[in-house]
Amino acid sequence: MSAYLDNAATTKPSAECVKAMCHALTEHYGNPSSLHSMGLQAQLDVDAARAQIAAALGVETDSILFTSGATESNNMAVLGTAARYGKRARRVVTTTVEHASVRAAFDTLEAQGFEVIRVAPCESMDEFAEKFAAAVDENTCLASMMLVNNETGHILPVKAAFTAAKKKNPKLITHCDAVQGFMKVPFRAADLQADLITVSGHKVHAAKGVGALWHKKGVKLGALLHGGEQEGGIRPGTESVPLIVGFGAAVKKMRETLDDRRTYCSALRNTCIEKLSAIDGIRIQSPANGSPFILSFSAKGLRSETLLHFLAERDVFVSSGSACSKGKQSGVLQQFGIPDNLADSTIRVSFCAENTAEDIDTLVSLVTLAQQTLIHKR
Ligand code: PMP
Repeated sequence: MSAYLDNAATTKPSAECVKAMCHALTEHYGNPSSLHSMGLQAQLDVDAARAQIAAALGVETDSILFTSGATESNNMAVLGTAARYGKRARRVVTTTVEHASVRAAFDTLEAQGFEVIRVAPCESMDEFAEKFAAAVDENTCLASMMLVNNETGHILPVKAAFTAAKKKNPKLITHCDAVQGFMKVPFRAADLQADLITVSGHKVHAAKGVGALWHKKGVKLGALLHGGEQEGGIRPGTESVPLIVGFGAAVKKMRETLDDRRTYCSALRNTCIEKLSAIDGIRIQSPANGSPFILSFSAKGLRSETLLHFLAERDVFVSSGSACSKGKQSGVLQQFGIPDNLADSTIRVSFCAENTAEDIDTLVSLVTLAQQTLIHKR
């Protein structure tokens, strides 16, 4: 039996998303910038999708920018903020466990001469928030912390960190990569004390290649691209109407089921923890209070890649670490205290509401079989 357990890498587009995309491709295919009725229709469709994303974040509709995905949103947030606010305030603060798209954007700032402070997580999230805020001073223009770690499911103390940091420096711009939390872990923009929030379509049952960046009213961003007046001139280029309306439709559907999905996936994850923990040599690496949608575990004596391929050959799909690093280790697991030898043996399982108890049983029995065939036969 096959089981897709890699929903943190990407999700299957929902029926609602596909229907909305097909409609945009076959009927409402005008250019939103065109002045005739076909253009107006496309513009209205884009704005309706914008309203859906805004409502899901609890923000004003006109402060949502559509992008090609979270990678672009993160780059826009980090580089765009530094371009506007970093002329004199030359310090920026982030964590050591961010997604590659945030990490690389901060590396770019470092190459531009910014002082980049990368704060490592602590055992206690309160302590982590304090340490993060302590790194912010009056010369800091930007601080960025993700909401849910994509490799382990840790929920980071964004609100506490940003609140304390803004107390130290009220001019500070705060950014949160909320990709793995959006439509999964309940939050509203105001709760996080964030000025910029990144979300991605394909993690919430929309198609790949669309994301959004929310920016608080009054926060100015330097543009990465230069061209027309689309998206307020901050993100020029003809809007990808099909991707955007699909994103809106997927989010609309997900908002209706948020609580049920969370409860359901939480129970699936608990079952998975229980059954995997009962196997000799398996260690759960995700925290008990982490995201209900992500579970990372290590299988002593089996390399991640070996186990991943063993499972994939039997139609069970998981990740080793994060999918974005193409199997290469990002170092994030070690930052959360997982030693090198276990990080090499770590697998990430990630759920959605379409997963079933049978999927978990299939995974668990195949992990046992992998141990018997790959370790015990050596
Ligand atoms: N941030 C996080 C936390 C992610 O998990 C991902 C996707 N793996 C991204 C950013 C990048 O998203 P996208 O694929 O939309 O560029």
